[in-house]
Amino acid sequence: MAWHLSAQRTDYLIKNSSMALLWFDREQQQLSLNSSAEHCLTLGLTSPDNVSLALLQQHWQALLSAPTIATFLMQGDVGDTLPILHIQSQRRCSLQLTTQDAGGCLLLLTDADNEQSDKANPTQQFDRALSEISTQLIRCSAEQVDQHIVAALEAFAQCSYSDRCYVFLFDDDGEVINNSHEWAAVGVSRHAHELKGLQESDLPWFFQCLREQQQMVLNHIDSLPRAAQAEHDEFKREQIRSILCVGIFASDRMIGFVGADAVKQQRDWTHDDIRRLRLVGNVIFNTLQRHWDQQALDTAREHMQALNQRLQRQAHQDGLTGLANRRALDRCLLLELRRAARQQQALSLLLIDIDYFKAYNDYFGHLHGDQALKTVARVLQEHAQRSGDMVSRYGGEEFVIVLPATDQQQAEQLGQRLLANLRAEQIAHPASPTAQVLTISIGAHSITPEAKSAPQQLATRLLKAADDALYYAKKQGRDRYCCSRSISY
Ligand code: GH3
Ligand code: MG
Ligand code: MG
Repeated sequence: MAWHLSAQRTDYLIKNSSMALLWFDREQQQLSLNSSAEHCLTLGLTSPDNVSLALLQQHWQALLSAPTIATFLMQGDVGDTLPILHIQSQRRCSLQLTTQDAGGCLLLLTDADNEQSDKANPTQQFDRALSEISTQLIRCSAEQVDQHIVAALEAFAQCSYSDRCYVFLFDDDGEVINNSHEWAAVGVSRHAHELKGLQESDLPWFFQCLREQQQMVLNHIDSLPRAAQAEHDEFKREQIRSILCVGIFASDRMIGFVGADAVKQQRDWTHDDIRRLRLVGNVIFNTLQRHWDQQALDTAREHMQALNQRLQRQAHQDGLTGLANRRALDRCLLLELRRAARQQQALSLLLIDIDYFKAYNDYFGHLHGDQALKTVARVLQEHAQRSGDMVSRYGGEEFVIVLPATDQQQAEQLGQRLLANLRAEQIAHPASPTAQVLTISIGAHSITPEAKSAPQQLATRLLKAADDALYYAKKQGRDRYCCSRSISY
């Protein structure tokens, strides 16, 4: 059964309630309020009956959702809440429509500035929200920063009854400024996507004001001076009625600003609004600074790692041919000898020397000689492709190939292939007594090391045996493969 409020019952309820209550007669457009509501609203009445709507609106203005208090009272629904602001003292209250019938509605008034509950108190809500957001901003990953910054903007917008809140940041060289973060209330236009690459000369009055006063507080955009025509046009375009901006400074340099717009309703900014917006600006700046520092550190670290890797590579690589160098060979040989001993597998080593290379250099010049060295390196590399095979420049015009899990016969097959493939390159060598083209001689040796053998001694003996074989190949007429007899060490 619907419960209808009679006029007398309403009167009784209002007057005797300890809560601040108002009854609005929609037909007469008259308010009745109890003493507690009068105390809150400070309308200066001796008798709180039949207060005109005009008198209420003279002292209080609506914020947020409804354009006027009158609209709210005439058209509001049960449950709707309207924040209102005392025009002189800037004190905040809120009206909640609790019951209505055909004649009017009953409203509960809360004094937001004195309200202890977080829900009704935007100030405390802001302080708590900002402290939570600061903590999150300190802990969050780089990917989450933007989302927390927008949350900080929203917290400020809600406590200051702003409709749009944003951050602008200058680029690295301070030439242009971009709208980097934006929060906007439902139904309020967003502009971050288009406010990119602005220059100070686009809004000269605005930036001068920010630089000189570190803030720009504008209650009515119509109060802008004549010199601020560009600002006036831009603010109008964004439907701004009141605007508040605070500069973000890093060691005296302005790196950007944080701002808030009142769009739905004109707004007189309070000292608290300015102080809080500055706080938001500081929190945002500290976060961004930390992430920029982190980014710079990460970049420097990546750079160092890349440099280190390059140095590491260079330390083990021959500059001319790109093959492994002598140091890398020594390391690899010991490793493979240990492995061969462990697994009782054969290991072969080829020592390769270019024939009559001094004569080649003398004939064509040193630069030409370098090219020939690179070609030889490429041919060796191309044909020693089994996993574990390692081609290195041993020094001058000599190369070594380590062939793990390769016996004498397999090594010789590879050696013969190398001889043939280099000849096939047809590198002219008119000064060679051996052939018309550049040739190589190969000395080889294969072993199956015993588990107890010392790898360093094995390596020395292996190289010595291959060198002996190479000497023999040279003596036999060059352009050939020789291996010293398999010896068990
Ligand atoms: P052999 O057939 O007996 O090996 O005769 P060879 O002339 O090749 O041997 P020798 O040891 O007398 O000369 C090696 C030559 O290799 C001398 C040197 O100028 C040349 N050489 C060594 N390193 C380089 C290099 O990096 N670039 C060039 N262009 N030549 C090099
Ligand atoms: Mg030599
Ligand atoms: Mg030589």
